[in-house]
Amino acid sequence: MHEDVKDCDVVIVGSGASGALAAMVLAQGGLNVLCLEQGDWIDRNDRAHYRPDWAWQRQATWNPDVNSRENSDDYPVDSDSSQVLMWNSVGGSTNVYAAIWPRYRPSDFRKGDEHGLQPNWPICYEDIAPFYERVDRILGVSGLAGDAAMPTRDQFPTRPLPFSSTARTLSRAFDRLGWHWWPAEAGVISEDYDGRPGCNSCGLCWGCSRASMSLYTYSVWPKALEAGARLQTNARVLRIEKGKDGRATGVVWKDRISGQTHRTTANVVVVGANGVGTPRLLLASDNLANSSDMVGRNLMHHTLVSAQIRVDEAVNGHMGHIVSLISREFAETDISRGFVNGFNFNCLTSTPSAAELSNGWLGSKPGPWGEHHHSWFKQNFGHVITLLGIGDDLPNPDNRIWLDPTVTDSDGLPAVRMHYAPGENDKRMMNFMLDRLQDLGEAAEANDIQLNDYRDAQGIYRTPAWHLLGTCRMGEDPETSVVNRWHQTWDVPNLFILDGSVFATGGVVNPTPTVSALALRAAEYIRDNYRELSRSTKVSVEA
Ligand SMILES: Cc1cc2nc3c(=O)[nH]c(=O)nc-3n(C[C@H](O)[C@H](O)[C@H](O)COP(=O)(O)OP(=O)(O)OC[C@H]3O[C@@H](n4cnc5c(N)ncnc54)[C@H](O)[C@@H]3O)c2cc1C
Repeated sequence: MHEDVKDCDVVIVGSGASGALAAMVLAQGGLNVLCLEQGDWIDRNDRAHYRPDWAWQRQATWNPDVNSRENSDDYPVDSDSSQVLMWNSVGGSTNVYAAIWPRYRPSDFRKGDEHGLQPNWPICYEDIAPFYERVDRILGVSGLAGDAAMPTRDQFPTRPLPFSSTARTLSRAFDRLGWHWWPAEAGVISEDYDGRPGCNSCGLCWGCSRASMSLYTYSVWPKALEAGARLQTNARVLRIEKGKDGRATGVVWKDRISGQTHRTTANVVVVGANGVGTPRLLLASDNLANSSDMVGRNLMHHTLVSAQIRVDEAVNGHMGHIVSLISREFAETDISRGFVNGFNFNCLTSTPSAAELSNGWLGSKPGPWGEHHHSWFKQNFGHVITLLGIGDDLPNPDNRIWLDPTVTDSDGLPAVRMHYAPGENDKRMMNFMLDRLQDLGEAAEANDIQLNDYRDAQGIYRTPAWHLLGTCRMGEDPETSVVNRWHQTWDVPNLFILDGSVFATGGVVNPTPTVSALALRAAEYIRDNYRELSRSTKVSVEA
C-alpha cells in the first residue's frame, strides 16, 4: 500500500450534491480539501442528448437504475425494490436527476410532536431556511415566490420557467377541484446565470447537457475547484480508519486506473456517498459509528404512485422542463383520511417516445409494437401527462441496507443488499393517492387515465428505490441516532455525514434542496470549528 503524505485537512468521500457543496465551502474557507470519487467526469458530449438514439440510451447506458446498466463505476445492489436509482460519477446522482426543487415545510421537522410515529428532527425549518436561500442563489434556482402553502421566502434568483401547455391544462383541473397548485420550483436556470446558458426548453431534461439544469458538475464543482479543492476521480474508498483515541484517522482507497491502494490521512472525514453508499462504507469500516445499530436502518424512499393521463389537446410535453406544477393540497396529516402524514403531486410533462414504447414509464404499460404501433403513437405522443404522488413514508428499522456476505464490487468492497417494504400507513396513503389521481385525471377531462400503483402480479408493493434517505439518521439521542444536529457522528467526533442518510423524516417532496441546504450548513460548521474538531475526542456538547 502506498501511504500518501499527510497534507489533507479534510477528506470527503463522494462528489455528489452533498460532497460538492462541502468541497466548495471548505476550500473557500482555506482548508486543504481532497474529495475522493469512485467514478469519473462525464464529458458532456458523451451524454445521451447528442445521440440520435438518446431515448433508447435512457433505457440502456444512461438508465438511472443501477441494476439496468453496466457501468464499471457502480457497485452491485441486490434489492427487492423495482429499481435502485442513483448515479456514481462526478456530480453523483445529479447527473440523472430532474432538478425538481421543492422545500420541506416546517411540519416535516416536527412529526414526533404531531403523531409520534416518526421522530422530531433536532433542528427546525428556521435553522435551515437561510441555507435554502443560499443554495438557491448558488444554483440559480427558478420559480415564483408567494406560494401560500409555504413559508415566505426571497424572490427566486431566476424567473419561473415558461408556463407550459401541460401546466395550463392541469391548472384548470386543479381549479375545478379547488386544490392547491403552484408553478414548480426548478434547479434549472430560466435565463443566463453565473456563466451558464438559460434553459432553451428542449426537453430531454434528465441529465441536461447544456448546464442549464444544475448538475453539480456544472454549478458547484467549478467553484470548488477554483477555490483549490482537489478531486481525485476513479478513487473508490474501501474503508474509513480509526485510531486508538476513537478519532477517524483517514481513509484507504483504491485508484481504479492504476490498481494501487492508498491511505490518506486527514483531520476531519466527511462522507457524502448517499443513503446507500454511506452506510455501506461505515459497515465495511468495522461497523464504524454504529453503537446505536441504526447505520443502514430506517431506509426511506417516499411512498410513490403515478398516473398517466391522455388529453385531447396537444400539450407537447416532450418540450420544456420535465416538471410543470406542484400541488401541496394534501401535504399535511388529516387523520380522517385513514393515515398520518401527507403527500404532494409532481406534475410532469410527457415522456420520451422510445421509452414509452420499449418499457412503459414508471410502471405504466408499454405501447404496442406491430399492427397498432403507429395509431398508438399518434394518439399518445404529445398528449400524455404524467402525475406523481410522492408521500412521507414512515421509517421502519427493518427497511434497511446491509453488506452482502459474498458479493463484492470490482475492487473487493462488499456489495449491498437492500430491503424495503411499505407499511400499512404507507399503503393506505398510496391507495388514497391513487383515488385522488383518478379525480385529477377526470377533472382534466382526460380521455384515458392509467393508474400505476407499483403492486406486482402478487399484489406486493415494489416501489422504486429512488430517494435514498434515513440510513444514518440525525437525532438528539446517541442511542437512537447516528449523527447529531451538526451531522457529527456520535461515536467518532471528527467524522461527519452530509448526505440524505441523515434525514429523520422524508417529507413530502423531492429531497435535494434539503440535502443541499443541510450540507451547506454542516460544511460551514466544520469550517468554523475546524481547529477544535482537529483535536477533539468528544462530540460537540452543543448538539
Ligand atoms: C433518476 C433520479 C431523479 C431524481 N430527481 C430528483 C429531483 O427531481 N429532485 C430532487 O430533489 N432530487 C432528485 N433526485 C435525487 C438526487 O439526485 C439526490 O437527492 C442527490 O443527488 C443526493 O446527493 P448525495 O450527495 O447525497 O448523493 P449522490 O449525488 O448520489 O452522490 C454520491 C456520490 O458518492 C460516490 N461514492 C459512493 N460510495 C463511494 C466510495 N466508497 N468511494 C468513492 N465514492 C463513492 C458516488 O459515486 C456518488 O458520486 C433524483 C435521483 C435520481 C436517481
